[in-house]
Amino acid sequence: MRFLKMVMVVLLVFSSATFAKVDEAQAASNISIFLNDSKQSYSNKAMIKNGVTLVPLRGIFEGLGANVNWNASTKTIDASKGSTKIWLKIGSKTTKVNGKNVTISVPAQIVNGSTLVPLRFISEALGAQVNWVPTTKTVKIYMSKGTSTAPSGKSMKVHFLDVGQGDSTFIQLADGKTVLIDAGPTNQGDKVVAYLKSLGVKKLDYLISTHPDADHIGGMVDVLNAFEVATFVGSGKVHTSKTYENTLLAIQAEGSKFIIPTPGQILEQDRSINSYLSVIYSDPDAAENNDASLVIAAGYCSQDVLLMGDADVAIESKLVATNKISEVEILKAGHHGSNTSSSLGFLKTASPEAVILSYGENNDYGHPHQSVLTNIKTVGAKAFSTAQAGTIVATLNCNGYTIDSKEFKAPGETVQPTPVPVPTPSPKPSTGDVNSGTYVVAGAATSFKNCTAMRAVYPSGVKSSHPAYESKHDRDNDGWACEK
Ligand SMILES: [Zn+2]
Repeated sequence: MRFLKMVMVVLLVFSSATFAKVDEAQAASNISIFLNDSKQSYSNKAMIKNGVTLVPLRGIFEGLGANVNWNASTKTIDASKGSTKIWLKIGSKTTKVNGKNVTISVPAQIVNGSTLVPLRFISEALGAQVNWVPTTKTVKIYMSKGTSTAPSGKSMKVHFLDVGQGDSTFIQLADGKTVLIDAGPTNQGDKVVAYLKSLGVKKLDYLISTHPDADHIGGMVDVLNAFEVATFVGSGKVHTSKTYENTLLAIQAEGSKFIIPTPGQILEQDRSINSYLSVIYSDPDAAENNDASLVIAAGYCSQDVLLMGDADVAIESKLVATNKISEVEILKAGHHGSNTSSSLGFLKTASPEAVILSYGENNDYGHPHQSVLTNIKTVGAKAFSTAQAGTIVATLNCNGYTIDSKEFKAPGETVQPTPVPVPTPSPKPSTGDVNSGTYVVAGAATSFKNCTAMRAVYPSGVKSSHPAYESKHDRDNDGWACEK
């Protein structure tokens, strides 16, 4: 028995050593590196070691506009760009960025006479964005011209407008594009226009109509008259109402581009900053208006918002069954908090931290329904109501998000609901860099509800080789989930 165990151990050691060799041999081949979309000639010397892309020292630093000095006697590298200073030592996992120690998982090293340094670490320290496309072994580095080295400071803002019993959501994407989704009922058009003007909006890049019900398109004519609208995105569902007809005439007069999106269509994307706007559901042939609702997702830097329009539980189930729903930070509940939407199964899959309910005070429909509020509570999310709070503004950036309003309070409720439990991070290891994307915290979970939960343990997310990596947390598919 003991002998057998020994053989097993020997076999295991042998096989893992073999795998490591294969891994490195494969890694040395065919990586393409692009900087601001132009292919870098040092690509041919790049290699992957333990999941980290290493590139020639001068190629990367000079490509990113940094000055670099190599000290042969101390085997150290000093680089600087603007106010950023980076220091590395061959074979050392400890580096310095602006004098502060930063631990990296794979050190700078000399391979076949070339000094190689970790691409992502260097690029990000110099303020560039890095995307890795595993299928094509391509690294894309984006460095905006003339930038300082500070992180971008960008954010995505989502304004859930208080339009009484109706819907209107204004999004300022992180790439600067403006998007209005629905415009509330007719008598709220002026209010929507005034609100956008108060934000300094002059032009809408996208005006989206989730479906042609009056509580969503009523204010569209006012909006089209007040602003330049580049692209109108419709559900494709035709309606016979006067409101719908007036909207079509106003679009025609405005001369906007008119599109009816297909499910999964990305309307706007800037991969260099992980910003997107997409349509995850559409059905122009639906018999009922609500069933034709466009479902829209928008995000920035691994923070996602899902807007359900008036989609009902059948559509929610369809989206869950076809894996179209990934976890989001903020959800605008379907159909104004009606019990025709927001099923528990759907909420469990979308796993929002905050749910926005857009409805009018004392409405005739009893929105929001108690069962929806119960479901929201069951999944541990906070509810927010436009009827109680007025317009609600969510600001999302790479560190998380904020919502400027108080939580929903049920009538008669005097105390705030108990806070959402914060995942307890496992004790920090004494060695190793928890920001490396590859470091495994002993005893930590290997599955996280969302990026906020993951970052409580792994502040910079995890790479695809990590046991806690799940592709659903890697929206941009660059092999690094929940990265900052
Ligand atoms: Zn509605």
